[in-house]
Amino acid sequence: IRVLGIETSCDETAAAVVENGRTVLSSVVASQAEVHRRFGGVVPEVASRRHVERITRVLEAALEEAGVGPDDLDAIAVTHGPGLVGALLVGVAAAKALAFAWGLPLVPVHHIAGHIYACQLCGEMRYPLVALVVSGGHTELVYLREEGRFAVVGQTRDDAAGEAYDKVARALGLPYPGGPELDRLAAEGRDVYAFPRAWLEPDSLDFSFSGLKTAVLNAVHAARQRGEPLNLADVAASFQAAVVDVLVEKAFRAVKRYAARQLVVAGGVAANRGLRAALAERAAREGVEVLIPPLSLCTDNAAMIAAAGTVLYRHGRVADLDLNAVPSLALEAE
Ligand code: ATP
Ligand code: MG
Ligand code: FE
Repeated sequence: IRVLGIETSCDETAAAVVENGRTVLSSVVASQAEVHRRFGGVVPEVASRRHVERITRVLEAALEEAGVGPDDLDAIAVTHGPGLVGALLVGVAAAKALAFAWGLPLVPVHHIAGHIYACQLCGEMRYPLVALVVSGGHTELVYLREEGRFAVVGQTRDDAAGEAYDKVARALGLPYPGGPELDRLAAEGRDVYAFPRAWLEPDSLDFSFSGLKTAVLNAVHAARQRGEPLNLADVAASFQAAVVDVLVEKAFRAVKRYAARQLVVAGGVAANRGLRAALAERAAREGVEVLIPPLSLCTDNAAMIAAAGTVLYRHGRVADLDLNAVPSLALEAE
């Protein structure tokens, strides 16, 4: 089975061709980060227009790189939510047009299901499993009893992990998107600030990052007001240690509670080097199998959408041509 995947939920225009849900034949990602940088974050209307400008060329490049034409494809998978409605609509319209023109089935994919199935492109997913999803808009623990069955068993009560990274980075004067910048700085600093870890109720699998974010901002403002020099690397390292401690502890708590055979990690923040190292260390200590995609498959891409689309297509989950974008789509409806 060869599936063309299309992703436009936020600020990456992406298309990819994946074979049998496992092998990436091509993956083209046109990032808009440059465009949004001067605004300090994604401007929805600008994102939509940019997707429109680029989608055709990105699709052509994905087919070209894979060396396939319409006749070599079995289905077209597209992110239909969640995300920015104007951005999503560009991908959905393109997917519907191609599905109609080429007579191919249309498979709607939940963006977070895509992030999770990115793991299938780098190893074998074994059920039951727990997925730690850490991205710009989501921080969730998802239990998959079997393929295609999602149960959200923990989630953030305020900011997502990536959102906290971006907001703290912005306060430190780092360019958007701040996650990778903070990650780089953290490697040069030490955890000396003792920022708070939000454990919440003793058994909780939920997260909260807004208290941590405020603590970091307060420390930064206090130092500036007193005219004290601020060691940005130490602030970054201390912030990252607090985020990573909680993510790792709760992920392994969920693995134990649900007797999972595997922990899979997904989403843009899964690219974080501190998180990857801490997960690997804990996994080795506890004998838990962990699957984390390579960096290029952690942040938004269309190969993950094609991979998830392949799974859904095999389960017969195709849509009609009246498919619409759903900005606040729930994962459990998938
Ligand atoms: P969602 O997937 O929830 O809809 P999104 O698609 O915008 O949101 P992703 O592309 O999955 O998010 O991830 C982007 C986020 O990941 C940004 O917040 C970015 O700062 C963060 N990020 C990327 N690389 C790193 C890193 N190395 N360390 C920490 N955060 C990172
Ligand atoms: Mg992005
Ligand atoms: Fe994403």
